[in-house]
Amino acid sequence: MSSIPCSGRAGALLGWYASHARDLPWRHTQDPYPIWVSEIMLQQTQVATVLPRFAAWFETFPDIATLAQAELDSVLKAWEGLGYYRRARFIHSAAQTIVERHGSVFPCDFDALLSLPGIGRSTAGAIASFCFGMNTPVLDGNVKRVLRRWQAEPEASDKRLWQLAQEAIDASGEPDTWNQAMMELGAMLCIPAAPACQLCPMQQHCASAFEVNIASEKKAAVRVRDVHWQVHLHVDKAQGIWLMQRPDTGIWAGLWTPPISELAVAPGTSPCHIHQLTHRRLHLYMDVSGNPPSGDGQWVADIGKFALPTGIHQLLAKRGITT
Ligand code: SF4
Repeated sequence: MSSIPCSGRAGALLGWYASHARDLPWRHTQDPYPIWVSEIMLQQTQVATVLPRFAAWFETFPDIATLAQAELDSVLKAWEGLGYYRRARFIHSAAQTIVERHGSVFPCDFDALLSLPGIGRSTAGAIASFCFGMNTPVLDGNVKRVLRRWQAEPEASDKRLWQLAQEAIDASGEPDTWNQAMMELGAMLCIPAAPACQLCPMQQHCASAFEVNIASEKKAAVRVRDVHWQVHLHVDKAQGIWLMQRPDTGIWAGLWTPPISELAVAPGTSPCHIHQLTHRRLHLYMDVSGNPPSGDGQWVADIGKFALPTGIHQLLAKRGITT
């Protein structure tokens, strides 16, 4: 197996990054707390969505100790709109671990980083390189695609990609900037469907330049299951809306919604709202009940104080109920 040729590659990529990188707030610090939060937020969410949430996060949780002491509900609320709420639970749990085991100081040891909830090898690599200057590569989806194209190895295994990523960062001389530049290239030019090879600084160093075979890169489609949910809406002029907290596991775990019951078959009516998740398409039907609510839950006068899933916000907005 060949390795990536190094000659001029690092200079080409780092030079391009120096003049083309987006000005993003987490790129102005080496403090591991905001860098960690940005890395977790960006795992499944677009930069444009993350930016306002990132700024607001530090108004609510200015430091790790504050985050660790916070109620999980308030962490979920701060995460509202970012989706994949498991990440918020991990952040909360990891903050508590940092306080308990590391005296509220972010660990600078790679293995200690890896042991924190929600931090895998790639995220640990980002934190270790950005904050502590370690030669630890990032290997997120963007970087994988770039490396596969550089090597013209569309089916390269993760093991192979980690090897290539390590060789590349070792040769770069600037591990922190190298990781940022690799992610930026994958996000801005070497994009999935239409790589901008004509603008790319890596043309001379890429075995796939102008010849990317998109068809060979296609992954197996994610299987999406249709789910039909009846959302029971109880609204009282004086008391507000009846909400209950969902269980700790499953879809929308720990978030607040009106009572929901799953329908065995699709009813003969159109759903009021369809909300797409990675593996589920939620068809939401509204049942506006005049009966008093029963079971767990509480009246909520101001839904802005509770963490509701985006799909429920959108459904309620159709009834004129907004924060
Ligand atoms: S030349 Fe094209 S395929 Fe190669 S890294 Fe650049 S954008 Fe990607």
